[in-house]
Amino acid sequence: MDANILIVDDDVAIRDAMHEFIQMSGYASHIADSAEDALAIIENQPIDVVITDIMLPGMDGLELTDHIKQNHDIDVIVMTGYSGDYSYEEAISKGASDFVFKPVRFEELLLRLRRVLKERRLTQERVHMLERLKRLSITDGLTNLYNSRYFYSQLKAEVERSNRYNHPLSLLLLDIDNFKKYNDSYGHLEGDKVLVRLGQVIKSCLRAMDSAYRYGGEEFTVILPETEGAEAATVAERIRAAVEELRFKPVGDTKVSITVSVGVTEYIRGEDVAVFVQRADRAMYQSKDKGRNHVSCLFITQQGCAL
Ligand code: GH3
Ligand code: MG
Ligand code: MG
Repeated sequence: MDANILIVDDDVAIRDAMHEFIQMSGYASHIADSAEDALAIIENQPIDVVITDIMLPGMDGLELTDHIKQNHDIDVIVMTGYSGDYSYEEAISKGASDFVFKPVRFEELLLRLRRVLKERRLTQERVHMLERLKRLSITDGLTNLYNSRYFYSQLKAEVERSNRYNHPLSLLLLDIDNFKKYNDSYGHLEGDKVLVRLGQVIKSCLRAMDSAYRYGGEEFTVILPETEGAEAATVAERIRAAVEELRFKPVGDTKVSITVSVGVTEYIRGEDVAVFVQRADRAMYQSKDKGRNHVSCLFITQQGCAL
């Protein structure tokens, strides 16, 4: 297994012998003669495990362990003589992964090192798996946008933030026009391609702080924090126009376009999240009533805005 090991010892004979042994065991080995030197190396190189003597000039091995565990994702194995100055408990309580007595028997050290590396790998795999699961649980598999569950949790958080700081917050709800007909004419798979492309287009029209979600089958939402309704309407119009420009080729070379109806609304301080979403939905239906391919706004001060 690839691993970078850093040996910290002020005794040059021990350090060099261990360095050679670690290299012969198949690992990349680095050396430092003080804790300070070790910290400088850690800052500049990826190190997986530090094997450090406890007794060092200047900062000692326990302080070094403490510093490493607080600032880096690195395992530490400490070495000490039988002097009784330092205890196993002290080293472990600073976060050391293991402890060996001096004079170090290299075979024993190697076994301990391998065990530490194995646990390290298992921990990393677990962390990656959890990250992957978290990503999967908030992502829509088809469009790669966030899913509706994440939409509600994010909207709730943004609503709380808006209430606390009295900052504006806007919401878009988009629905593809006559999508049933598209599916009926060209098939569900071709319809899916439209959904994927639409997800990309919506994303491309957003600013860094905005987030897009697949809300339902062919419905999408966009949360726009720190954004007043009028500005949100501009974003909505940008999306509507970009979608209108798209051309699909579900059969042969015939180009087919699609359109979306969009509802825009701004959060009213103190109101329920559900009421906020319902208003965006009502605004979207106004766009359907106007003949589709429209952006409609429902604000408190204005009932519908012309674009
Ligand atoms: P309107 O303009 O009133 O919105 O008409 P519409 O046909 O889009 O609306 P309706 O609600 O009648 O139909 C929605 C269609 O969206 C029905 C369904 O076939 C399609 N749809 C929903 N989810 C998916 C999906 O995941 N993939 C595909 N291909 N189609 C979907
Ligand atoms: Mg719909
Ligand atoms: Mg529709």
